[in-house]
Amino acid sequence: MTATELDTARYRDPALPIGERIADLLGRMSVEQKVGQMMQVDAREDLDGQVLDRHAGSILHASPEHVARAHDLVARTPLRIPLLVAEDCIHGHSFYEGATIYPTQLGMAATWDAGLVERVARATAVEAAATGIHWTFSPVLCIARDLRWGRVDETFGEDPFLIGELASAMVRGYQGGGLDDETAVLASAKHFAGYSETQGGRDASEADLSRRKLRSWFLPPFERVAKEGCRTFMLGYQTTDGVPITVNEWLLSDVLRGEWGYTGTLVTDWDNVGRMVWEQKVQPDYAHAAAAAVRAGNDMIMVTPRFFEGALEAVASGLLTEHDLDRAVARILELKFELGLFEDPRRPDPERIRACVGAPEHTALNLDVARRSLVLLRNDGLLPLTSGATDPEGRAVGDGTPRRVAVLGPLADDAQTQLGDWAGSSGQADWLPDGQPRAMIRTTLDGLRATVPADWSVTYTPGAEILTLEPNPEGDRFPDGQPRWPVVVPAPVDEDQLAAAVEAATAADVAVVVVGDRVELVGEARSTATLELVGGQVALLDAVVATGTPTVVVLLASKPLVLPPSVDRAAALVWVANPGMQGGQALAEVLLGVVEPAGRLPISFARHVGQQPTYYNQIRGQHGDRYADLTQEPAFVFGHGLGYTEVRYEDLRLDADTYAVDETVRVRVTVRNVGQRPAHEVVQLYVRDVVSSVSWADRELKAYQRVEVAPGASETVDLALPVAACTVVDAAGERVVEPGAFEVLVGPSSAPETLLTAGFEVRAG
Ligand code: BGC
Repeated sequence: MTATELDTARYRDPALPIGERIADLLGRMSVEQKVGQMMQVDAREDLDGQVLDRHAGSILHASPEHVARAHDLVARTPLRIPLLVAEDCIHGHSFYEGATIYPTQLGMAATWDAGLVERVARATAVEAAATGIHWTFSPVLCIARDLRWGRVDETFGEDPFLIGELASAMVRGYQGGGLDDETAVLASAKHFAGYSETQGGRDASEADLSRRKLRSWFLPPFERVAKEGCRTFMLGYQTTDGVPITVNEWLLSDVLRGEWGYTGTLVTDWDNVGRMVWEQKVQPDYAHAAAAAVRAGNDMIMVTPRFFEGALEAVASGLLTEHDLDRAVARILELKFELGLFEDPRRPDPERIRACVGAPEHTALNLDVARRSLVLLRNDGLLPLTSGATDPEGRAVGDGTPRRVAVLGPLADDAQTQLGDWAGSSGQADWLPDGQPRAMIRTTLDGLRATVPADWSVTYTPGAEILTLEPNPEGDRFPDGQPRWPVVVPAPVDEDQLAAAVEAATAADVAVVVVGDRVELVGEARSTATLELVGGQVALLDAVVATGTPTVVVLLASKPLVLPPSVDRAAALVWVANPGMQGGQALAEVLLGVVEPAGRLPISFARHVGQQPTYYNQIRGQHGDRYADLTQEPAFVFGHGLGYTEVRYEDLRLDADTYAVDETVRVRVTVRNVGQRPAHEVVQLYVRDVVSSVSWADRELKAYQRVEVAPGASETVDLALPVAACTVVDAAGERVVEPGAFEVLVGPSSAPETLLTAGFEVRAG
């Protein structure tokens, strides 16, 4: 095309309807350009060749230099089709130096605050969009099942309703006011669907799932965001009934596109198409694999370089038609037209970057989320350490008696570990080897030093190591060239370090021990066989607690871990999922009482790894609730979390006794704060179907509300329960409301003994 032809081409005319522009452009594209358009390539691998020779439609894992280069390359292509620039901005703009890194998704879930999560997603989109990112691979809607799975930290926990609430808030935050807004980024609901149903917690194992089980727990959050307009969906890595998700026509065509009417774009996960050939061995070659993936409805093929040759061969041999490609290419082009990339490719904008990346208002938001994400699991009254009053510098004010705080533990001052997976130097991107700037991160030690009363002292010694790494005996690469993680070796107990910690604890009035996991124990292909603390950490806890110095245990862990018996003798226990850049400051404020603990568990904690799974909404079984050698009760249940005050739930009442299916149960409960400090409650409403046609969960979360109650005051909380939500999935796999008796259970956690109960009846017809 000449320059004039290009300028006057109909697809370049923004005044024309998008459908016409797509049709015009498709008519001009060669089959090679169409195949290339479906490819999302790793920007670190031969970017020039991928864009110029293979006509790639999208890039991911692009450093700022790659993003700039990619735009220059597009300007040299005949049709100037802009690239979609994608990145895993899953708790902040993870791999952009100086971006705001928030708590992980599991940490954000502990806030039970959809509004806050939406604001985080919005702020992330603002930062990401300024740097030229168009598409984030977030949120994760997988439900956590087996805690050994390495990706539990990426989830919103174990409950489909909570996941749906938070995921839809996140999608709204990313996509903002609409794709024509320059700060909007495309959201991606992942990993569709069932990926988290692992065997033994092993990543990407066969997901042994019936369609009923999928419909019961795994699909509802996805259905919700599909219907609410999440523009892209990403597949997982699992097979179900032996069928890789990439070619699961029932899920992709019948359910997603058919029943739910989803018209968005589907992207595979990393090399899903290639894996069908070299790993799962269900396709003989790349031509068949490409054909099967396209026919099943995939639009964008993530990092399968040989998709190019495979798809072309499939077209040449009649396995695919060009029309099959057009359907997928049209969906990708639609996104590009809607984002307005043909008119403005949304290059990185230095001015906006300066104004918003790591901006003070995002740091303030981050601190707020981190504060609310901390979960106080146990407290014998030692906490809070002060009354919470602060001086003009923001330091807590003591009672005039100086106190000595011994900060201990390998994670008390480990800035990068605090950020968790998918951030900085966590391994997926190679252009930030040293992680995010240390000065932006507040560790627990930083936070305590900055916030304890001016006359207190803080000492620090780590006391233990966690792990070392050894080369993987299988080699450092998978057959497709992907890196294989090295092997984790638990660190031995270091007697000198331990002695120093004991000495510091003995000399102190309070010990704060920060233990947990490291990123080498977290993430894709990094599931753990155990849930115990690794390395010298158990010995450290045992020794510090044995000193008799009142001890606060801070579990800074990507996911729930199993704690040693000595922790039962500690004064208090706090769980902090990887809490982001402001985590240490938030923690110090909570320990000192400057802010109230407000988080609630979005996931249950096990007492022993052998209890897996421990999620609260299991289908009722028979033969009781004990192992011969252990209870089946988790250590801490879904929904649990304490404050510094005492709260009573009273006077649960419903607005009627019987309801039709299209009505809403109005539920009221009084929350009374009988303690001395403000209450930050999450009022949780569960439903029990008293007798159902199929065995079902004893109770399921259906509504919740955050409420703050002043000391001595009480609040009446109104909750709405649509009867249409009181469903079971019957034996035929249909989600139905079965008329009859139900119970509403309201209280501060999912534990039955904490819940008030009221009955109602659903009328037939
Ligand atoms: C992960 C996805 C991620 C993608 C791109 C895959 O291995 O499963 O969650 O979005 O890589 O980084």
